Amino acid sequence: MCEDEDLLKKAEEVWNNLTDETRLSVTCFIFSKIHEHMENSGTYRVLIYNRLGFDMNAYGVLMESGGLDISNMCHDYWKEKYPEKFEALKKHLKELWSEDKEEATEKDKSDREDLKRESLVFIGRATCPFCNVVNRFGRDERRCPHYEDFEEVQVKSAKLLVKYYLAVFRENGEMIKIMVEEESDGRA
Ligand SMILES: [Zn+2]
Repeated sequence: MCEDEDLLKKAEEVWNNLTDETRLSVTCFIFSKIHEHMENSGTYRVLIYNRLGFDMNAYGVLMESGGLDISNMCHDYWKEKYPEKFEALKKHLKELWSEDKEEATEKDKSDREDLKRESLVFIGRATCPFCNVVNRFGRDERRCPHYEDFEEVQVKSAKLLVKYYLAVFRENGEMIKIMVEEESDGRA
């Protein structure tokens, strides 16, 4: 269900002006992409950028339309249907991020960058200092309008590489960084 009435109204208008043939083709395409997402899983970003071919401008609009819920539902389906793949993914992510940077291969490094981009690297939450909305990362994703970006912070103590994330919030030019509280359970 889309909560933005104007957006929904406009979408309906566009839809009603299409020919039956176009509607069928568009729906065919979208269904097949959602089905692909169910069978292969991936983040909301993968669904809208890679599978449906949109850019960042679509992020909010498609989220309003339930895109994130659909993506999460696909992930839950995938996890149930392919538990062994889910375990393998969890293991892969764990290995990728527990390794010392120097030992990582070029492939690992580029995988890491991809994962970071996909927000698969951590599951956590940070409360916005301006509106108190809990922003969620990596699972049931949620962003308030003040959220801008996240930053990875690395602290090297002895041989251990400690990593954490800061969520950056901004309102009227005032910027506040809040540490992301990470959650352990791995729905990637
Ligand atoms: Zn906020």
